[in-house]
Amino acid sequence: MGLTTALLLQEEGHQVTVVAQHFPGDMSTTQYTSPWAGANWCGGASSDCADQQAAEAVTLAKLFRLSVEAPEAGVKVVDCIECATNMGPLKLPWFTLKTPQFRLLKSKERPVPCDYAYSYKSVCINTPLYLQWLRQRYEATGGRCLRVSQPISHIADLWTAHPETKVIVNCSGLSARDLGGVRDPGVYPIRGQTLLVRAPLSGQTLTAISPEGVSYVIPRGDGTVVIGGTYQQFSEKAEPDEDTIEHILTGCLRLAPGLVADQDQSFDSRRELLRQAILRVNVGFRPARIGGARVEVEEVGGTISLG
Ligand SMILES: Cc1cc2nc3c(=O)[nH]c(=O)nc-3n(C[C@H](O)[C@H](O)[C@H](O)COP(=O)(O)OP(=O)(O)OC[C@H]3O[C@@H](n4cnc5c(N)ncnc54)[C@H](O)[C@@H]3O)c2cc1C
Repeated sequence: MGLTTALLLQEEGHQVTVVAQHFPGDMSTTQYTSPWAGANWCGGASSDCADQQAAEAVTLAKLFRLSVEAPEAGVKVVDCIECATNMGPLKLPWFTLKTPQFRLLKSKERPVPCDYAYSYKSVCINTPLYLQWLRQRYEATGGRCLRVSQPISHIADLWTAHPETKVIVNCSGLSARDLGGVRDPGVYPIRGQTLLVRAPLSGQTLTAISPEGVSYVIPRGDGTVVIGGTYQQFSEKAEPDEDTIEHILTGCLRLAPGLVADQDQSFDSRRELLRQAILRVNVGFRPARIGGARVEVEEVGGTISLG
């Protein structure tokens, strides 16, 4: 959020400095979410939230353009397939007319038995690559980066240290709940545990959701695939769970048998092969907020910050 906002402001002719404790290349589990994202675009706005739908549509259009204009950014067009079981009657997402080739899948086309499934064209982002690209592009426009070794504890400290500052854009992610002067108690974490595996998959992201949990498979386009995962609201546990690793291996191999090239062996043997292909066990914390994302202007001590 911070680098994207900074880049857009620089491109508008403003002089921006990004002040942060973490930058692309850092892998802090608890303080920096972006490197841990899968990530794919799957619009999450509710059917009655026109503002968020509009923002998501603009984002998707930009990412489609980036996939063509800047292949080195790590954004790739994919077929996105989503399956649902015991989630109630079919509820179409808001983006049925906004994503190319949106369609419901017939039973025989579904990757796993489920109540309904649909597919559409979307993008997935190799986030470590994309974040580096974003920073380089921002710095190429003259944008500055300033790393702090400790978290800034109060927003006013930024004005004290940089009195020439006119506007502060607060893109502090999960830390927005603790940042003095603009503390937001509605912000909370949604824990996500995933595995990064080496696997011969590309071109398609798969998700299967049921009341028991979610399995998802997101190829990064470089021979590695993010498989997940969990969606644990309010959990702050930084260490990975062993049970979750088993749940991910089993659920994702059912969803995407192609994760393991050798199709002739038993399911258990192939799950062991997938386990051997694990490159890293990841835990990250999605910033969430009761009432939804906050995008508004706030006056602080006679000056204005954008939250
Ligand atoms: C497992 C997992 C899977 C996900 N999958 C997807 C997906 O498929 N699609 C999708 O759209 N999203 C996905 N997400 C969510 C996505 O990653 C986040 O919404 C996004 O990365 C948040 O970015 P951000 O810039 O708001 O926060 P962050 O990336 O956390 O950046 C916050 C920045 O602010 C700095 N900062 C904060 N407070 C301070 C302070 N006090 N002092 C100094 N610096 C500070 C930090 O150092 C950091 O640089 C996923 C997340 C996880 C964990």
